[in-house]
Amino acid sequence: MSPPAAEWFDRADPTGHTRAGERGLRFSCTLCGNCCTGPSGYVLVADDEIGRLASRLGIEIPEFIARFTRQEHEGRSLTEKPSQFGYDCVFLDRDKVPGRAVCGVYEDRPAQCRSWPFWPENLKSRAAWERASTSCPGMNTGTLVRPDQIRIRRDSTPGSPAR
Ligand code: SF4
Repeated sequence: MSPPAAEWFDRADPTGHTRAGERGLRFSCTLCGNCCTGPSGYVLVADDEIGRLASRLGIEIPEFIARFTRQEHEGRSLTEKPSQFGYDCVFLDRDKVPGRAVCGVYEDRPAQCRSWPFWPENLKSRAAWERASTSCPGMNTGTLVRPDQIRIRRDSTPGSPAR
């Protein structure tokens, strides 16, 4: 039996943004904040992530849950706050760095945030990747992320079939 065909991002120069022969996708966050705002959505947060975030803020877990999360059909989510851009993640900080939107809990951000933009739906096809890149200026620029790293990040996304 022949091995399965390589996924589209595991071929040489899959998007035209890599150097000849390179496999993988480029991504470096520009801190625009687009992925942390917009229409109301959800950021799933697991129990261990809640524990780390509560500890970071120096509060008890029940208080963190009450103040910063809500229950959604898909699971427990971080809350949002209205902004001129729509609904910002409750931890998005637009004041710390002028002209930038930074995550206020970056080192302890949930897996859903860590794995962006390598979410399963963005990696279904090159067309899906290019569609997502229209709202994320960090995609197709910067650091080359190799196929094995892409798979690790994709498969760590909440809701991924591999999880
Ligand atoms: S949309 Fe992309 S470039 Fe902008 S903050 Fe999110 S990951 Fe970074």
